[in-house]
Amino acid sequence: MVPSILVHCCCAHCAAYTLDYWRQQGHEVSGFWYNPNIHPFMEHQRRLEGMKALVEGMGLPFIVEEGYDMVEYFRRVVGNEAGRCRHCFDLRLSRTAGAARERGFDAFTTTLLISPQQKHDLIREAGERQAAEQGVAFLYADLRKRYSDSRRLTKPMDIHRQQYCGCVYSEYERYSGVIIT
Ligand code: SF4
Repeated sequence: MVPSILVHCCCAHCAAYTLDYWRQQGHEVSGFWYNPNIHPFMEHQRRLEGMKALVEGMGLPFIVEEGYDMVEYFRRVVGNEAGRCRHCFDLRLSRTAGAARERGFDAFTTTLLISPQQKHDLIREAGERQAAEQGVAFLYADLRKRYSDSRRLTKPMDIHRQQYCGCVYSEYERYSGVIIT
């Protein structure tokens, strides 16, 4: 039987190569959206619309988690802004692992693993932690060398391109040049 995987998707530009990569590895691939770290809400909606356009073109199933847990995101990071990414990855991958378990997927992974701009080791740790806690396998691959290939795939598409990682802190860092410590 073909193993099924649920792939957490952070944006269309990282998802384009990643979804195809896992499909090429012989998995039955479904995308999953849960990103309460993307602010403000309309930026979240624009990135979600981009993801929907991508998966429709690829002919892949796509599950959008209900709700927008912005409040939960802030409850986790306020007071620890410099170390916020760890909590952000945990929140998103915890929900992904839970959805994979509840829906009977064999494993889960995330498109975050393709980005050279993310804290790669923390993503891997969060995935493995959630796998152990929730009893569902986490698939790891270091796809960072394929990041530009992924962006090339979405270049001809009319998909919103974000200018910052997601949270308001990252937006401030992007435009002010200040790094929050
Ligand atoms: S910078 Fe990106 S990964 Fe880190 S907390 Fe903000 S949205 Fe999450």
